[in-house]
Amino acid sequence: MTSCQIDRSATVPALSLDDERAVDRIVQAMSRARRLLFITGAGMSADSGLPTYRGRDGIYRAQQTTPHGFSIEQALSGPMLRTRPEITWHYLLELEKTSRHAAPNRGHYVLAEMDGYFDAVWVLTQNVDGLHQRAGSRNVLDVHGSLHALECMRCGQQTTTPDYSKLTLPPRCSECEGPIRPQVVLFEEELPYDKFSRLWYEFGAGFDLIFSIGTSSMFEYIVEPVRVGRQMGITTVEINPETTTISSEVDIKIGAGAATVLASIWERYLTW
Ligand SMILES: [Zn+2]
Repeated sequence: MTSCQIDRSATVPALSLDDERAVDRIVQAMSRARRLLFITGAGMSADSGLPTYRGRDGIYRAQQTTPHGFSIEQALSGPMLRTRPEITWHYLLELEKTSRHAAPNRGHYVLAEMDGYFDAVWVLTQNVDGLHQRAGSRNVLDVHGSLHALECMRCGQQTTTPDYSKLTLPPRCSECEGPIRPQVVLFEEELPYDKFSRLWYEFGAGFDLIFSIGTSSMFEYIVEPVRVGRQMGITTVEINPETTTISSEVDIKIGAGAATVLASIWERYLTW
């Protein structure tokens, strides 16, 4: 348990009356729940100062075409990494810089603290910033990998780096001089089978509540657990200031930021 990590003295921005009622419904459902699943995207880290990808101020929206003349999806793709690693690394560095000095926010800490209160709390995240792990969450499926885990594409040597400031780009392996890559899933690359197979294994054990937080829900593999959960009769919740493809499908929708809502849910849960 990491209860001391939440700064309860900080002012929580007020939620709308509708959102307050939604928080009550969520807390009521949580009071009967044993197993929770949280699916998180860039909006989860927005309160840590990280940009969202496709949201209102998203970096993908701001930079439809990169200065190199490629779309961001092409620049950050597996084929580009293999043929022109300097291009991919240029944008990996941009991504890494946005999270270099970021710290977990109250939303991350709330999820980590929940570990001590339920039988199981699973976090499926699209984020590559490692903030859930840094906050202390135990069961994190980071399906897009981590920017801080590096791997030699020739000999397979694995290293970790706190940030990219000391790297000469594109980096080479200290053992074999082979090209290095971060262990992240780039565009046009396969998703990690083992992490999804763990997710579905945990579905077998059942969830009582599924939250989708701060993700634009563009990808089928992010939407599917919510839809499957609904079909199984599991209560589904979306926390996102924006309307997404699943907004009309979930049982409870809260149109506010992740850290504010999670802090409010947790405060109320603890005094329920
Ligand atoms: Zn090597």
